[in-house]
Amino acid sequence: SLRPVPGTTPARALTIAGSDSGGGAGLQADMRTFFGCGVHGMTAVTAVTVQNSVGVTGVHEIPPETVAAQVESVVTDIGVNAVKTGMLSSAGIIRAVDEVCGRLGIGRDGRIPFVVDPVAASMHGDPLLRADALDALRELFRRATLVTPNLDEVRLLTGVDARDRAGLVAAARAMRALGPQWVLVKAGHLVDDPDCVDLLHDGERVVELPGPRFDTPHTHGGGDTLASAVTAALARGADLVEAVRFGKRYIVRAVSDAYPLGSGVGPVSSFW
Ligand code: PLP
Repeated sequence: SLRPVPGTTPARALTIAGSDSGGGAGLQADMRTFFGCGVHGMTAVTAVTVQNSVGVTGVHEIPPETVAAQVESVVTDIGVNAVKTGMLSSAGIIRAVDEVCGRLGIGRDGRIPFVVDPVAASMHGDPLLRADALDALRELFRRATLVTPNLDEVRLLTGVDARDRAGLVAAARAMRALGPQWVLVKAGHLVDDPDCVDLLHDGERVVELPGPRFDTPHTHGGGDTLASAVTAALARGADLVEAVRFGKRYIVRAVSDAYPLGSGVGPVSSFW
C-alpha cells in the first residue's frame, strides 16, 4: 500500500511550480499526485496563473527571493526527500532556485534527487516561461537528476526536431549534452506512433518505455502529473529507472481516466 503508517512522518516531496486556478495542472496537480503516491507534498509557488479549461489569461510572478525563501523554510524544518520544478516563469526565479538548491544539497552533487520539468508553454500555447529565460533554464539542467521534456520543449531548448523514433534518440542525446544526469524524452506528441515509447537516457543506456496511446483531448496537467509521480517514487527511495517506470504506470492510468471539464480541455485524473 502507498498509504503511510498513521502517526509516522511520511516521505516528503517539494514542488517549485506555478498555480493553475482551474486545478488541472501546475502545483495543484503536483500536490494531488504526491498525496496519491503516499508522499507528503510541499509547495514553493513561483507564479499565480489566471487559468481555466480554455487557457491562461494572466500570470503574476512571485518575487525570486520569496520563491527561494519558501524552499529554504520547508527544507530546513520539515526536510525533503525529492524536489521537482514545474513552471519557473523567469530567469530571476530560475537563478534563485538554482542558488538555494545548491546551498541545501538538492540536485546532482547533493543527496536529494532533483527533477526538472522544463515547462515552457501550456498545451494551448500560452507562454509559461519568458523567452529570455532559456539560458538560465539550460544552466539549471546541470543540477538536475532528471529532466522531462516533451518534443516541443526539446525543439525549443536544443533545436532538434524529432519526428520519429530515430529522432527521439537524437533528442535524448542533445538534451543530455546540456548536463542533466538523466533525460526522459516524452514521445506523446509523436502522433504516428501507435504506442507512446518514451526514452530514458543517461549518456550510455537508452531505456525504452512503451505505453498505450489514448484517444482523449483531456490531457491537461499530464506532464506535471508524470514528473510528480516520478518525484514521489524517488522520495520513497526508488532508484531512477524504477521511479520513471512507476511514473509511466501512473500517467497511463491518469490519462485513461481523464475527464472533460469546462468548455475547453479537461485534466488527467487522480481519482482512484
Ligand atoms: N499551468 C501551469 C501553472 C503549469 O505548470 C502547466 C504545466 O506545467 C500548465 C498550466 C500547462 O499544462 P498543459 O500543458 O497540460 O495545459
